[in-house]
Amino acid sequence: MICLGIESTAHTFGVGIITEKGKILANVKSAYTTKEGGIHPSLARDHHEEVAESIIQQAIQQANIKEQDINLISFSQGPGLSPCLVVGKEHARDLAKRLKLPLVGVNHCIAHLEIGKLLTKAKDPVLLYASGANTQIIAYDNKKYRVFGETLDNGIGNFLDRVARNMGFGFPGGPKIAALAKKSKKYIELPYIIKGMDVSFGGIQTNIQQKLKNGFKKEDLAFSIQETVFAMLVEASERAMAHTAKRELLLGGGVACNERLQEMCDIMCKERKAKSYVPENQFLTDNGLMIAWQGILQQKQATKTYKQDIRPRERTDDIEVSWKS
Ligand code: AMP
Ligand code: MG
Repeated sequence: MICLGIESTAHTFGVGIITEKGKILANVKSAYTTKEGGIHPSLARDHHEEVAESIIQQAIQQANIKEQDINLISFSQGPGLSPCLVVGKEHARDLAKRLKLPLVGVNHCIAHLEIGKLLTKAKDPVLLYASGANTQIIAYDNKKYRVFGETLDNGIGNFLDRVARNMGFGFPGGPKIAALAKKSKKYIELPYIIKGMDVSFGGIQTNIQQKLKNGFKKEDLAFSIQETVFAMLVEASERAMAHTAKRELLLGGGVACNERLQEMCDIMCKERKAKSYVPENQFLTDNGLMIAWQGILQQKQATKTYKQDIRPRERTDDIEVSWKS
């Protein structure tokens, strides 16, 4: 079985193609970026509409297959921005209709976790999912991927993007903060907000805005931001690992591309004789391949049919894990 998967929850329109055995045939994407300011949902939608057909065709070419070789189409149902989700769904539906193939809708967050497991061979990890709109600490327990901790307000990526915007940079801001942070070792105290296993970034953002007005250096702030917010994520992840007695940590989401976050996760895991796994960057940020792989997992257990609507607010723990992974 070969599945073509379409991702379009937010800034990225991506198409991946993968076989039932997990052989990667293609992963092509185009991301909406800005010189200044954040994501505008309707502009991201326009971007997706503009590139969709070409990205689908490029993926088929990269896979070196014919359309007729594809057996299944999948798409990201949510969570995500409705205008963006609709583009992915419509292109997936049209393709499935034209090629007379089954269509499977999948949950984006779970797809991050399952592709990470496939690529790293982690068996039963705690996932630290740190992306633009989502920040969750997820682990499998009794037929569901349970959320052990999460952000109470913004995703960590959106937080970094907003801070970068306040500093005068465009989207995505995370890599710009990361580059600035490398230029400093001066720690400026910032609020450290973790409530139980949940984190929150709004207060920290306001505090930074104030500090920027008061003339603190951008690179010192960038360094301090990373040290503070990544420590919050590592603390919550460690607690989830202790609670579930799991010995693997898997990173997912665009913010997981950050080398300092990876290093901190690695240190924490070594201290508790656990292992930290990080897939390659192209599979950490949003991508079509993870959607294709999740499509395969769900289609292989044919007892359940999946609805084909978009679900902008779907939660990780809404989904019953009925596939074997
Ligand atoms: P995703 O939504 O999973 O595709 O991730 C996108 C988010 O990842 C954006 O908010 C980016 O700013 C952030 N991001 C990408 N690369 C890095 C990096 N090296 N460090 C921190 N954040 C990053
Ligand atoms: Mg994502």
